Amino acid sequence: MAQKKIRKSIPKVAKVRAELQAEINSECPFCENTEVGHFQIHHIDENPANNNNGNLLLLCPNCHSRITKGDLSQIDVLKRKIELLNNPKKTNKKDSQNVSFNGTVGNAVVGNNNTVNLKNTKKTVKQKYPEGCIGFESVKSNYIGHLIERYNKYKEYEVGKGNVKYWIFGGQLKKKFKIAPTRTIYNLPSSRFDELKLYIQNRIRETKLGKIKGSTHKHYSTFEEYTEKFG
Ligand SMILES: [Zn+2]
Repeated sequence: MAQKKIRKSIPKVAKVRAELQAEINSECPFCENTEVGHFQIHHIDENPANNNNGNLLLLCPNCHSRITKGDLSQIDVLKRKIELLNNPKKTNKKDSQNVSFNGTVGNAVVGNNNTVNLKNTKKTVKQKYPEGCIGFESVKSNYIGHLIERYNKYKEYEVGKGNVKYWIFGGQLKKKFKIAPTRTIYNLPSSRFDELKLYIQNRIRETKLGKIKGSTHKHYSTFEEYTEKFG
């Protein structure tokens, strides 16, 4: 593996690490991993000199490499950081908890005084998908959303309600269908809709709950049924 770019060491790293660990409640923010001793500090803006707490996130080596490979986008990471910062249960520091870079990261605009505006509400996300993408066709994209929701619902049975890391499945879909990190699964061409649909349906049936309920159970609406209802 290639040597990572040389980074300046983080001042008072033990203290910073302890704060970051408290922030994530000693659990990787992207998976179930709790072996915090092995966790690594990630620089969200990829600038190794920006050691402000708001730019740092402690996470497991697996998820760290998922970011490096682009399976997890910078915007996903930033969103997660903001989520953690906004969760008062898991944070106790006031002044060191600001997101610290200015400018645009993905769809998020980080402005003065560290205010963060997330621009990708449902409406604006939809509008940005060009013709020919699944995201351009509302019934198709809503149906994919419906299936992803179904999958996460089934996953709740396995890991417990409130423990589903819903962004993981989106990352897996992006990897499987080779979607660029800055894009979403809805950027997939409409011509591959059936393939995506069948893949997610299969993943639902292959969850623990899917297997327990069995092949005769109706796990989700078919696209035809969905279209009839919402199309
Ligand atoms: Zn992880």
